[in-house]
Amino acid sequence: RDWQLSLLTLVALPGIGVGTAVISRRVRRCADLIIDETGRLSARLTETLGGARLVKAYAMEDREIERHHATVNRRRDLILEMTRARAMSSPINEIVGGIAFALVIYFSIWRFGFADASIGDLASFLAALLLCLRPLKRLGAVIPDVQEGLVAAGRIRTLLDVQSEITDAPDAVPLPQTGPGIELRDVHFAYVPGREVIKGVSLKVPRGKVAALVGPSGAGKSTIVNLIPRLFDVQSGCVLVNGVDVRKVTQASLRRGIGFVGQDAVLFDDTVRNNIAYGCENASDDAVAAAAEAAGADQFIAKLPDGYETKVGESGVSLSGGQRQRVALARAILRDAPFLLLDEATSAVDSETELIVKKALRRLIVGRTALIVAHRLTSVVDADIIYVLVDGCIVETGNHASLLAAGGVYARLYSIQSLEEQMNTKLAV
Ligand code: ATP
Repeated sequence: RDWQLSLLTLVALPGIGVGTAVISRRVRRCADLIIDETGRLSARLTETLGGARLVKAYAMEDREIERHHATVNRRRDLILEMTRARAMSSPINEIVGGIAFALVIYFSIWRFGFADASIGDLASFLAALLLCLRPLKRLGAVIPDVQEGLVAAGRIRTLLDVQSEITDAPDAVPLPQTGPGIELRDVHFAYVPGREVIKGVSLKVPRGKVAALVGPSGAGKSTIVNLIPRLFDVQSGCVLVNGVDVRKVTQASLRRGIGFVGQDAVLFDDTVRNNIAYGCENASDDAVAAAAEAAGADQFIAKLPDGYETKVGESGVSLSGGQRQRVALARAILRDAPFLLLDEATSAVDSETELIVKKALRRLIVGRTALIVAHRLTSVVDADIIYVLVDGCIVETGNHASLLAAGGVYARLYSIQSLEEQMNTKLAV
């Protein structure tokens, strides 16, 4: 109808966007902080509910409720702020849009007054204007929603973009079936740059032999165990399994070849059977039962309400520490891997169960290459070779007899533990 008026309309109506832009910025900031607070809230809930027994035992319920309220309140305040900002979006759009619309009408009437145009032209121009206004306002109302979604999408993208530090080399090969066993060559490793926890460790676990790693707490024993299945990469030196650097074999084949029982027996909220068959989903019931028997777990499983089909609860909460450990051991037995890594595998059991577990372990390690981490030196006296680790360095190597004869760190640790055990026996009597 009139190109100059159309131009004016195109300049004036997007004025609605000014208010929306201001509000969008606020919505964006709030949405970002709400995501942070929601993360904090769920982390706190998981931590507190997971440690519910400890919270009760230390009578810390009030403190935890207080901390929970503080997080919930912060989150609620942010949600209120965002809701307020969004609620302002509609009136601001109405006002700004109304002013812009009034301006355009004013100029239209003014221009049509001068121009040689009929009242019909004016009416059709205003009708077209009205038709534009509604979609523009709707667009303005939807923008805060889009902003909120964009913040969430940004967080998801950040997560998806995280690259695993441990990836297969392009020319990675499957782990060879045979070879000389496990070897660490001058390995250095730090979790935090500049703070080495493994300082030039070299050790060998020859094929078919049992090696033990002992030493004071914090010496780096578990760290060494974690380096073998390549849960972390060494900073210098290398870890060889069957003669090949673990960085040159596929992670799947490496980890399939290793049975692992860690410090905390990790169980999933599933049945006993499925926990044992974890990683061997196609195992038959007979194979699962045989593994449980070999781990000394069959008797307590038989007494569970639904036997192998009993649900163990979150993290295996319905089982005792020793029972959890035997289920984890049965899982390693069923895996039937040529390499075994046992980290404090008998730490959570009483003496009687320890005997059962030890017997199971002895059966399990026959013919396999095993590295055992143990605090109780009595459980490693039969090992073919014992490495004593102190502060990230191997300080002594030998078998039980030779290390005792050497009279060094091992002999000292052994005599302290023997003394402790004698005292415990006397106290028990
Ligand atoms: P323990 O016998 O008590 O289990 P350990 O000999 O197995 O101890 P590691 O668990 O290997 O010792 O820990 C060695 C050192 O590395 C410790 O000083 C520990 O604080 C540190 N450490 C362990 N895990 C991490 C981690 N994820 N991040 C940073 N430092 C860690």
